[in-house]
Amino acid sequence: MHFHVLTLFPQTIYDTLAHSMIGRAIEKGLVSVTCTDIRDYSSDKHGTADDYQYGGGPGMVMKPEPIFDAVDNVFKQIPILEHPQTPIVLLSPQGRHLNQNIINEFSKLDNLVLICGHYAGVDERVKDHLVTEEISIGDYVLTGGELGALIVIDSVSRFVTGVIGSEDNVQKDSITSGLLQHPVYTRPAEYRSYKVPEILRSGNHSDIDQWRRRESLKKTLTQRPDLLSTADLDDSDIRYLSELGYQG
Ligand code: SAM
Repeated sequence: MHFHVLTLFPQTIYDTLAHSMIGRAIEKGLVSVTCTDIRDYSSDKHGTADDYQYGGGPGMVMKPEPIFDAVDNVFKQIPILEHPQTPIVLLSPQGRHLNQNIINEFSKLDNLVLICGHYAGVDERVKDHLVTEEISIGDYVLTGGELGALIVIDSVSRFVTGVIGSEDNVQKDSITSGLLQHPVYTRPAEYRSYKVPEILRSGNHSDIDQWRRRESLKKTLTQRPDLLSTADLDDSDIRYLSELGYQG
């Protein structure tokens, strides 16, 4: 999986991705990230990439030409005919909210182009004539798109084979599984008189599985009941949820 990030701050992306699981995935060549500095495509020697707004108003707007040219250059490296489905994503508070379905779709691709805006945003012609979709990471406004791009890269990379030790674990995660994950504990068995549930230390795996499933259902009902309407539930799940007061 290759991420192509267009940004005014390439080092923000590289520095953040240099660590932990994604850093190792990059080292192993499972995932690659190439940043293009949008300023390198500016037409003047100062690397100007923004300008005043037509019509007046506060905040500078990112110019269209360096962004179009930088994307053209990315597609010289990934021939469009070989990868016609490559999305060109603009990180934007105006976009579709990032969710697990979008992440699953992105994780099936070979290439993903991510454009990071700044200031008052990017010239609307970039949205109208270049990007294929706008993605928001939530209903709040950030100073720039880099954190959004990093969230996309991190969440999508987890689904690339080999990035997370056990792929089974990824499928059992909260949201991905359709429910919230059951509680997890590690040593010590008792800390400040707070004890790990006895059943997890019993060695009885069928009882542990049942406990985990029920805790997962209980947590979901308490914290994210909206997930239950689309979760994959069997008869015994539904019986347990009804005991907890869930009416479906
Ligand atoms: N004035 C713009 C508006 O009202 O839509 C917001 C511009 S914001 C200060 C600068 C850049 O940060 C955006 O172009 C976008 O790339 C990024 N950004 C801000 N909030 C975001 C969000 N919730 N999701 C994704 N990207 C965001």
